[in-house]
This record gives sequence, structure tokens and C-alpha cells, in this order.
Amino acid sequence: MRYFLDPFGCAKNQVDAENMMACLDNAGWTAAADAEEADLIIVNSCGFIESAKQESINAVLLWRRRWPGKKILLAGCLSYRYADELAGSLPEADVIFGGADPAGIVDAAARCCGLTAARGKTAAGAASARPLLSPPGSAYVKISEGCDNRCSFCAIPLIRGRLRSRPIGDILEECRGLLLRGVKELCVIGQDIGSFGTDGSGGPAAGAAASRLPALLEAIASLEGRFWVRLLYIHPDHFPSGILDIMERDGRFLPYFDIPFQHASPKILSAMNRRRGAESCLALLETIRGRLSAAVIRSTFLLGFPGETDEDFALLLDFQEKTRADWLGCFTYSREEGTAAYAMKGQVSKKIALERKRIIEERQVSITGRNMDRFVGKTLDVLLEEQFENPAETEGAGTFDGGESLWLGRLYCQAPEVDGAAVIVCAEPELRGGTVSKLRPGAWASGKITARRGLDLELRLAETGY
Ligand code: SF4
Repeated sequence: MRYFLDPFGCAKNQVDAENMMACLDNAGWTAAADAEEADLIIVNSCGFIESAKQESINAVLLWRRRWPGKKILLAGCLSYRYADELAGSLPEADVIFGGADPAGIVDAAARCCGLTAARGKTAAGAASARPLLSPPGSAYVKISEGCDNRCSFCAIPLIRGRLRSRPIGDILEECRGLLLRGVKELCVIGQDIGSFGTDGSGGPAAGAAASRLPALLEAIASLEGRFWVRLLYIHPDHFPSGILDIMERDGRFLPYFDIPFQHASPKILSAMNRRRGAESCLALLETIRGRLSAAVIRSTFLLGFPGETDEDFALLLDFQEKTRADWLGCFTYSREEGTAAYAMKGQVSKKIALERKRIIEERQVSITGRNMDRFVGKTLDVLLEEQFENPAETEGAGTFDGGESLWLGRLYCQAPEVDGAAVIVCAEPELRGGTVSKLRPGAWASGKITARRGLDLELRLAETGY
């Protein structure tokens, strides 16, 4: 039997999708390249905010319209959060999986396709052996599930439950296995990796525990070889400064910091149940940049939170100027039942929230542009992802004659799927010299950054394949 998985949502949900694929593969299913070839279509949904929920439901409706006869299974966060409601209201999906344990997918798939064989749970096997949906050479390593922070706007604790950190030994085995498979970049993820180990797993008692993220990085540092470790989603309230020591000592731990600040107004931050204030966040950035001059900052702002006034917004604009984040993601508040903010007074209209988001995003383009200019002239390593078919038709990639090949890749300052990219130009001499033959997706290369093109950086190849 063949399945096709349509992934939605965040990197954490992607790892679940990869684990579900591993379970199905181990139970004798085969992954189909597209839905046409598949017996079963699995929509791995997101249930975080309204727009994401709608996107996942639309996917089920679309697949049903396109393939009336095929079996469709809804998995992922939406199916956890609304299993009962959806069972009655989404007949287009034959089965609502609703199970948080990826191994349960085999039984659900069998039920969906009326199979009697292959029932029961089939394990994913070694985490490092799972299919990877990330760009070539990169893999997400999910170190914990759930969250204890209870930000008042966030439904994730309702969906994914309390924080559960994985044992450091398991994570280390996964990293070792992924590196042996040729993975070059390990993206460490969780809902809030700064809280890793504070649930007491693999260390002192729950709650009182300090973050064990530095201890985890120390363990990963014991692995041999050349690789990148990128840290994503560190809640500012739990920033473990011990990671800076490791980054100063070991360049494989990228000075890339994804710290969602969400807002700057003391009134709004307190209503969001977030403790670290704007001044303290700015001091944190100063410490980071003071200790790691190559530091790159990504953050997230939430606009339109209940009670947000023009004055609160003005504080956020001022904070945006002062943080000078390299990358910034903006979201508008989504009123989610079951969250503390749902019942709050002063709900802000979507129109105002979207307008504030537009203003922030517009201002961020020049901030990011200025920040990326600092890389022009530098020679940096790049992780190759794909070759462009026809460079001449590649938008925003400057002028090219027929004698060049063009690749897409990422530098340490560019996280997968959310930041700008590196556009790598291989001129004729390199083509003739055979250098290009060493170029392949997931391989290292290095090049001199010659220009910024919008939010992307253009490189001229210097070295490859090491
Ligand atoms: S840190 Fe806050 S926003 Fe992030 S998952 Fe936890 S509760 Fe949600």
C-alpha cells in the first residue's frame, strides 16, 4: 500500500510527520511521490491559529475534490485538538487520527483503508533513520514535547501538553546517526528549547531545574566531525547564557539566536504572561552581540493582542528599531478558545492588527537589508540545497550569461525555510575546472559574498565538496 503525506505547520510537526512515515515504512507501506500514485492521502495538519487550521481543512477538501475515490486521513495538531468535533463535521476525511503517538498511525491507516493486516502500533525505529522532509543536508532534532510557559495567547500547551524533555543520551544517538547519514546541519527544536530539562527529565527535580540545554550542547560537542548546530525557539524568559560559552569555544554551534520577543509594552507582555521586559531583552541582545560579534538574531512579534493600544504599538516600533533583528516574523493575534487571552477585554480588530503587522514588516525590510550588507565581501561556508535549472530565468539573481551555473544554499546566518537564501554563482572557469562536479545538494562549499539581492546574498564559488 502506498501513502502520500501532505505536511503542514511547524518544524515540530514536521518531525512527527517524519516519524509517522518511518512507522508506515516499517509496517510495509511505501511513500508515494505524489497523491495520484497513493492509496492513502495523509494530511498532517496544524491546529495552532485560525488561519493555519483553515489551511489544513482546505487541504482535506481539496484532496477530496481532486481524488473522490481515495482514502484521506487527517493527522497532526488539528486532529488532536478537535478530534470529536471533526469526526462529525469533516466527512471528507475518512479517519481523524487524533493520536499524539506517531506509532499509532499504522493502525489508523489500516482502519482507514479497511485493512486487517498490519494492525497495531509499529515503532519508528531509530530516530536518525527516519525519512527527512527538510532541505538536503539538514534535519530537525526535536529535543522536547509540550510547554509549561502558558503564554496567554497560545494553544500549544492545550494541544501538546506539559513539557517533556527527551533524555540527552537519546538525542545524542539521534545526532550521531544523522551525521553518519551525511546530515550537515542539526536544527535543535522544541516549543521552547531554553526550558529543556526543567521538567526534571534526565536531571534534578521538576520545576526548580535550571535549563539543561548547555549540558545537551556539551554532549553534542563530543561528536566528531564538521557540522552545524542551529538553535531554534529560545523563550527570552529562559535564555540559558551557558550556551554562549560553548559557542565561543566551538564554531560548529552557530551564533544564530531565534528568540521570540512577541512584544515590548510592559502591559501587553504581562497580559501575555511573559516576564522578560523590553529593557532586559535589549540587555540580553547586547550581551550576545558583545560576546559573539557574528551573532545573528531572529525574532517574532505578535500584533493585535487584546488591549494593544497605539501607545503599546509605538513602544513595539521603538523596540524594533533598537533590537535591529536580522530576521523578524510577524503574526496577528488569533483568538483561541481555551487560552487565557480568549476572554480578555479589548479585543483588537483584524484590520488594525493587520495594519500594524504591515507597518512592522515594511520597516523590517530595510533593517534586515542593512544587517545583511555586513556580510558582503566576506568568504563564508554555504550548505548547498539545489541547482537552478535555467539561471537566466532566475528572478532577482542579477545578470548571467549562459556560461554559469546557479545554486541555492544557506549560510550560517540563514535558517531553513524562514530566512533569505544564498545564491551561488559558478562561473565558466569553475565549470571547466571540474569544481562544479563536486557540487551536490547537501554538500558544503564556500564562497565570497559579492552582493545582496533583496534579502538574499549572492556568492561566487571559492571551494567545494569538503
Ligand atoms: S513558549 Fe509560549 S508561545 Fe511558545 S509554545 Fe510555549 S506557550 Fe506557546
